[in-house]
Amino acid sequence: IPILMDSLVKGFTTKIVHNDRQDAIEHGSLHKPIHANVAYGYADAKELAAVFQGEKSGYSYGRQVNPTITAFESKMTVMEDGIASVCFATGMAAIGTTMFSLLRAGDHLVSSAFLFGNTNSLFNTFDKMGIGVNFVDATSVAAVAAAVTEKTKMVFVETIANPRTQIADLQRIGEFCAQRGLVYVVDNTMTSPYLFQPKTVAASLVVNSLTKYIGGHGNALGGAVTEMGSYDWSGFTNIYPEYRRGEPQKWGITQIKKKGLRDFGASLGPEAAHHIAMGAETLALRVQRQSDNAMAMCHYLSNHPQVKNVYYPGLSEHAQHARATELFRAYGGMFSFELQPEVDLWQFLNRLQVIVKSSNLGDNRTLAIPVAHTIYFEMGAERRASMGIDESLVRISSGIEDIEDLLADLDEAFAR
Ligand SMILES: *Cc1c(COP(=O)(O)O)cnc(C)c1O
Repeated sequence: IPILMDSLVKGFTTKIVHNDRQDAIEHGSLHKPIHANVAYGYADAKELAAVFQGEKSGYSYGRQVNPTITAFESKMTVMEDGIASVCFATGMAAIGTTMFSLLRAGDHLVSSAFLFGNTNSLFNTFDKMGIGVNFVDATSVAAVAAAVTEKTKMVFVETIANPRTQIADLQRIGEFCAQRGLVYVVDNTMTSPYLFQPKTVAASLVVNSLTKYIGGHGNALGGAVTEMGSYDWSGFTNIYPEYRRGEPQKWGITQIKKKGLRDFGASLGPEAAHHIAMGAETLALRVQRQSDNAMAMCHYLSNHPQVKNVYYPGLSEHAQHARATELFRAYGGMFSFELQPEVDLWQFLNRLQVIVKSSNLGDNRTLAIPVAHTIYFEMGAERRASMGIDESLVRISSGIEDIEDLLADLDEAFAR
C-alpha cells in the first residue's frame, strides 16, 4: 500500500487510522505487526555502535525501542498534535517516570488537589524524597500562583478530575506557566485527545493513561507522555549535558526516554501496544457515544427524587460548565452522583443488572463503583470529607450500550 503522509489528511480519525502509512508497513500489512522481539542484529559492528551513539537511527534494545511501540508513539503524537511521544507500561509509569526524569531533590511541584488517587499517593512519595509538593484548588489560577515559590519547576493538573469532575483553570494556568517559565504538565486521560488537546492551553507535556479511553476496551494497560514543542528546555537546569543536543524543544522528552525509560524500565509491551493501537482507531466514535450516554443518564438522575446531587460538566449547574463548553468537544463519559440518605447504597448497586460494578474507566461497558468504600477507602473518612467525597457517592463510567437499556437499568434499581 502506498505511503501516505499525515499532512495529506486533516481529520482526527483519518489521521489515527492511516498514521502507520507514513512508513512502508511490513509485507503490505494493513495493521502494524506485533514485533515480539528484544534485540537487533547488525552486519557491520560500526553500524551497531553508531545506533548506540545516536549517530544513526535504528533499534538497539527492547526496553527503549520496538517498532510496534514506535508506530504507536507516532499515532500518539498525531492525536495530541505534539512533536514526540514516549510510551510506558501504565499511566502511572508515564507520570512517575516524567517526574523522576525532570525533577531533583530541592525542587518544588505545584499540583492540583483534585487528582487520581494513585497520582496523589505518588506525589506524596516524591514529597518524602525531597521534592516539595503543594496540592492546591486548581479550578482557580490564583491558588496555583499563590503556591509557586522560587524552587517551583513544574505545575501538574488533570482536565476533568475523578470522581467529582472539577475542571482545572486550564487556559489561565497555561498562560501563567508560560509567563513564569514553568513546565506545565496536563493529564488528559479523562478527556482524551478527542475531546481536548492540551496544546490549545499551552501545555508543555501531556500525559495519557492509554488504559482508559484511548485503548478503550479494558484489555491492555499503557501510558504515554507527549512533548508539545512549546517549552524551551535550554533554560531548564535539570537537563543533563548529554541531552542538550539538537532542538531545545525536544530535550525534555529525550531525557524522559533516554534516562527515565531506560533507568526505570517500565516499558510498554508490543502486544499491549497493538491492542491500544486498535482501540485508538475508534476513540472518537466511542467517546462521542459515551458522552451522549453520560449526558442522558445525568439528565435522568438529576430529575430523580432518590438522587441528592449529580456531578457532570455537561449539566448547566456544574460550577465549571461554561469552561467545559468552551474547551471540550463534549463532556466525557465520567460522572458521579450522591443518593438521598434514605436510599441504601448497596441495595441500589446490587440491583443494577446491565451496569457492571467495577473500578475501570473508558470501557465499552458502563461501570459503577461506590467511591468511598473502594478507590478512596485508604485515605480515611476525614480526608474524603475534605475532598467532598460523600459516603454515598457512586461513580459511573458510561459505555457504548444503547441508552434505553441503561436508563431502564437505573429505573429498575431505583424502583424495586
Ligand atoms: C487511570 C489513571 C491514571 C493511571 O493510569 P494507569 O494506566 O491505570 O496506570 C492516571 N491518571 C488518570 C487521570 C487516570 O484516570
